[in-house]
Amino acid sequence: MLQLKDPSLLRMQAYLNGQWCDADNGESFAVTNPATGEVIGHVPHMGTAETRRAIAAANEAWRGWRAKTAKERSAVLRKWNDLMLANADDLAQIMTVEQGKPLAEAKGEVAYAASFIEWFAEETKRVAGDTLASPWSDRRLVVVKEPIGVCAAITPWNFPAAMITRKVGPALAAGCPMIVKPAESTPYSALAMAVLAERAGVPAGVFSVITGDARAIGSEMTSNPTVRKLSFTGSTEVGRLLMQQSAATVKKLSLELGGNAPFIVFDDADLDAAVEGAIASKYRNAGQTCVCANRIYVQDGVYDAFADKLVAAVKKLKVGNGLEPGVTQGPLIDGDAVQKVEQHVADAIAKGGRVLTGGKRHALGRTFFEPTVIADVTSDMRVAKEETFGPLAPLFRFKDDAEAIAMANDTEFGLASYFYSRDIGRIWRVAEGLESGMVGINTGLISNEVAPFGGVKQSGLGREGSKYGMDDYLVIKYLCMGGI
Ligand code: ADP
Repeated sequence: MLQLKDPSLLRMQAYLNGQWCDADNGESFAVTNPATGEVIGHVPHMGTAETRRAIAAANEAWRGWRAKTAKERSAVLRKWNDLMLANADDLAQIMTVEQGKPLAEAKGEVAYAASFIEWFAEETKRVAGDTLASPWSDRRLVVVKEPIGVCAAITPWNFPAAMITRKVGPALAAGCPMIVKPAESTPYSALAMAVLAERAGVPAGVFSVITGDARAIGSEMTSNPTVRKLSFTGSTEVGRLLMQQSAATVKKLSLELGGNAPFIVFDDADLDAAVEGAIASKYRNAGQTCVCANRIYVQDGVYDAFADKLVAAVKKLKVGNGLEPGVTQGPLIDGDAVQKVEQHVADAIAKGGRVLTGGKRHALGRTFFEPTVIADVTSDMRVAKEETFGPLAPLFRFKDDAEAIAMANDTEFGLASYFYSRDIGRIWRVAEGLESGMVGINTGLISNEVAPFGGVKQSGLGREGSKYGMDDYLVIKYLCMGGI
C-alpha cells in the first residue's frame, strides 16, 4: 500500500536516547489504515520504565544541547526542516495511510509541520534578555532567559506531524530536550520525523519518541520531577487530568484542548467567500481539527441563500481513500468518531433539525461519513455544546450582532472563532466581543507558524508558534549584580 522512495522512514521501533528499540517486555500494538482497515505495522507497547529512562537520558543530553550556541542549534534545526521538505512525498504518504486525510492535505501538513522547525531555527537567534533601570546606585539588574529543562509532549492523531513540530521546534530551539508520545493511531509520522532528526544531527536524547500505554507514559511524564514542562494537545478531559497529575511537581504546562468554534455569517457578508471559508474550516481533515467550525450562525436575511450555496459546495466534495486522486474527504479516524457524528445528527433531527445533504454513513462503509449540512439547528441540540469533530455543518439562525456574539460565547471553550462581514465597525465590535484566542475575519483558515495559536477559557493555556511560542520553553532568571 505504501510506495516510499525511502522505505527506511517507516519504523516499527520507538526512538529513545538515539536508539531504535522495542518495549522491555517485547509487546507491541497494531496500527491500522482507517481507509482500508489493513494493518500497517506494529509499534512497541512501552510504559513507565522506558519513559523513565528516556527522561533520564534527556536530562543527560540537556547539558550538551543547552551549551551549544543558538547558531549551532539553528543549523541542526534548519537541516531537519530541509530533510522534512526533501522527504515530503514519503512523509505525506505515511500520514495519509495512518491518519486518512487526503494526500494533498497531508502534503500541506508536512510543509506546515516543517515551517515550525524553520521558524524556531530562526527565532532561537533572537532570544534576548534585558537590563533594567536599577533603584540602587551600586547594583545592576540583568534579566537572562534560560531553557526550562526536560520537556515532554503528548500529541493527538489529527495532525500527526505538525502537532509535534509545533512543540519540538521551540523546545529544541530554546535549548531543551523533548520526549514525545504520539497518539496510538498515528505513531509512524512521529517516528519518520525522528529518523530525519537523527540524520539532521539532533544529538541522542535531545528528541525521543516513545510509543505505548498512554496512561503509564503520561503518569511518568507528569510525576517525574526531572520533567519541567509538559505540552499537550488533545481533549479537554485528558488535559484536565494531566494538569491535575502535574500539580504535585508544579510543572509548567501548555495545553491546547477542545474547540467548538463558532462561524458567523452576517447579512453584509460576501456569501461566496463565506461558503468557501466554511468549506475550508468545516470539512478540512473531515472536520477533525480543533479549530474546525463547529457551529455555523447565519443571519436571518441571508440564511436560505447561504444554506443553498453551502449545500451546492458540499455536494462537490469527494469522499474516499485519501491516496486516490481528487479525494477531498477521507475516512474518520475510528468507529467512535463516526458514532459521535451519527449521534449528533440523530439528536438534531429529533429536536427539529432538517438534513439538507448527507446525514448518514457513506456507502463506502468503514469510517467514511457523508459530508452533512443540517438546517434549523437550535441551542438545545448537542451540536451547540459539544465538538462534533466530523463533517457535519449545523446552521443556526440569528437576528442581530448581540445575539450572534452571545450565542458564539455560550460555551466553556474559546479556541478559534470566525465571522464574515464587510462593515468595519461591526468587524471591530464582533472581534472584540468574541471570547476566543484566535479570530478569523473573512477567512476560514488562520493557522501558520508566524501567528500565535492557542485558546482562552477551557480551550487551554499558552501559545504555540509565533514569536511568543518560545516563551513557553524559557524561564526568566534575574541577576542582581552588586559591589559596583
Ligand atoms: P482524542 O479524543 O483526540 O483522541 P485524547 O485527549 O484522548 O484526544 O488523545 C490525545 C493524546 O492524549 C493521545 O496521544 C492519547 O494517547 C493521549 N492520552 C489519552 N489518555 C491519556 C492519559 N490518561 N494520559 C496521558 N495521555 C493520554
